[in-house]
Amino acid sequence: MEEQEENEIELEIREHSDADFFPEKCPFCNLSNIKRLTYHLREIPDLGTPLICRRIYYERVYFKCKECGEVFTIEHPLIPINARYMPGVIKYAVVRILEKGDSIRRVTQDLNELHLVKISETTVQRWINEHGKKETLPTDLSDEDPPEKFSGFLSLDGTFKSVKVKKNDQNLAT
Ligand SMILES: [Zn+2]
Repeated sequence: MEEQEENEIELEIREHSDADFFPEKCPFCNLSNIKRLTYHLREIPDLGTPLICRRIYYERVYFKCKECGEVFTIEHPLIPINARYMPGVIKYAVVRILEKGDSIRRVTQDLNELHLVKISETTVQRWINEHGKKETLPTDLSDEDPPEKFSGFLSLDGTFKSVKVKKNDQNLAT
């Protein structure tokens, strides 16, 4: 059984890029002459199954305004800034521990063995400490105040919500 399992595990990769939400206007001068400056690639674990290892390949893009010279980023609708795990992983752990009453040790084991997310008890403990005080979970961006580092760009014309929904549906359909 164990020998077979290793061979059966499938790697499922999803690619996300800030360039999918290419800014229409510069958040500093409001003009529309923007170019892609540089990027960082990150691999972010998502919640898998015993047979599917899910990873996100995320391209964080730095944009530059050709008019005023400012460099800026956007907040991707699906990936919080500086996320080391996808929001679904955190939500899963928080719900099981805080709402279902499972232990941190048990949930950490399940994440590693059943969901193929490599993670330590210390990290899960930190999520619980952070989220235990809040009513809402961070994945529900629609009702939250913008994060501290939020560039403010997407809120200029109020398209944040519609962009998020549109992109999400597209990804689910493919
Ligand atoms: Zn500008």
